[in-house]
Amino acid sequence: MESKYVFITGGVVSSLGKGIIAASLAKLLQARGLRVTIQKFDPYINIDPGTLNPYEHGECYVTEDGAETDLDLGHYERFLGVHTSQANNVTTGRIYNTVITKEREGAYLGKTVQIVPHITDEIKRRMTLLGQDGKYDIILTEIGGTVGDMESQPFIEAVRQLQWELPEEDCMSIHLTLVPFLNAAKELKTKPTQHSVQKLQQSGVQPDVIICRTEHPLSDDIKRKVALFCNVKPGHVIQSIDAWSIYQVPLNMHAEHLDELVVRKLQIENFNAPDLTRWNEFLYRLSHPSREVDIALVGKYVSLQDAYKSILEALVHAGAANDCKVNVHTVLSDDITEENVADYLKGMNGILVAPGFGGRGLEGKVHAIRYARENNIPFLGICLGMQMCVVEFARNVLGYADAASTELYPDTTHPVIDLMEEQKKTTMKGGTMRLGAYDCKLAKGTLAYDIYGCENISERHRHRYEFNAKYAKDFAEAGLVASGHNPQTGLTEIVELPTHKFFIGSQFHPEYKSTPEKPHPLFRRFIQAALQ
Ligand code: GLN
Repeated sequence: MESKYVFITGGVVSSLGKGIIAASLAKLLQARGLRVTIQKFDPYINIDPGTLNPYEHGECYVTEDGAETDLDLGHYERFLGVHTSQANNVTTGRIYNTVITKEREGAYLGKTVQIVPHITDEIKRRMTLLGQDGKYDIILTEIGGTVGDMESQPFIEAVRQLQWELPEEDCMSIHLTLVPFLNAAKELKTKPTQHSVQKLQQSGVQPDVIICRTEHPLSDDIKRKVALFCNVKPGHVIQSIDAWSIYQVPLNMHAEHLDELVVRKLQIENFNAPDLTRWNEFLYRLSHPSREVDIALVGKYVSLQDAYKSILEALVHAGAANDCKVNVHTVLSDDITEENVADYLKGMNGILVAPGFGGRGLEGKVHAIRYARENNIPFLGICLGMQMCVVEFARNVLGYADAASTELYPDTTHPVIDLMEEQKKTTMKGGTMRLGAYDCKLAKGTLAYDIYGCENISERHRHRYEFNAKYAKDFAEAGLVASGHNPQTGLTEIVELPTHKFFIGSQFHPEYKSTPEKPHPLFRRFIQAALQ
């Protein structure tokens, strides 16, 4: 079967949860036995979100093949349990970069290079790229931004053209909007939805299904009104009511017959009811915890939830796996000093020190780690969190008072964390870190080996600095064990303190690979340790 395409646009306001809707629909189609992937087209000029501040755009999600992508790809992977790649996230910047490079190469000699057809052709080429090798029955494409934005117009135009080119039954479009509730009038309002759909129609795209985000159930009358005014079939307007968990949304969408509408429109002979047995098991555990645990998340981007999306989700998965609710207490590392550290961390069952870049909040992280180490509180440090646990140990156990990462203190006499060799030549910032999946060999007899239950693992990376091998012997003698190495380069990928209840720092990011159906072993054991 040729791949079929589902386009998802959003209107009225941003942050409606298009990514979750896309992931939920994909989950339902996958649970019907179809092969599905999701891709996201983002209308900004950055080549990828790797250069964006997490405060502006939330977490940067890293794929196996080392693409720095939008955090929605994290949702796609968590819901579907399958890997995405660079091809699954494309920005306006990447499209223009390709077209302008081709122009310089002479690919369009004699022609004026224009948005239509050159930019839109490149968008369409990328939209259909994953459909080339017959790997997928259905490709869902989420268009970032809101309909009517200047930036998203070429993407909407590309959707229009594809819908015009492809057979009726090979593509469809879904529009997600908001139906606000006016408290004063005690009424749900459909006008913003009507206007948003009109915008889409002006661009030549007629949605087949309208999904309305709402805080209150939509009556049949309201659904009918939206259908009539927006020119979609009755029954093709469905509600997406606020859910208690994002993982509940696939079930809500199924109850609204979304997956059924899609297979019918795409004329896929699929009469299977989605098999969501494992998903439901997870949801049951998530909603019936028998105990609780308090975890401090120490980082510098804590005021924005989305900045640590994958970590927060991995904690949710690990909590469910341990039959417990994880209460996350975010702590801004900038605020922590040697004197007040206990005020923030006393009573916590576990301390997680987050990844990050630059100097702000670094010393606070070091104090938090010292507190975890000296008070035998389960500790998990990720990337910068691992690097700072090495610094803390060097300063307070080895006695190297000025030990540091050269990221912040280039002149330290004890550069226990230093720039990776291959990074020394790099001046460009975008896409130049050590990125994506790398092998790691765990040493037998270590906690890490016990947790993973095997010797050879692969995890994803995003960093420039590394554990300085010159100090490996000092650390080992004082008790900080390097429990895993990259088999090719010898880089230290994970460290641990065997004398401690649970003290692990990983240079890689385990959070990217945790899913509800396959919680990550490191997070699982971290929560287990926190429970004891
Ligand atoms: N800033 C550190 C580095 O580049 C850590 C990066 C991270 O935490 N992802 O090595």
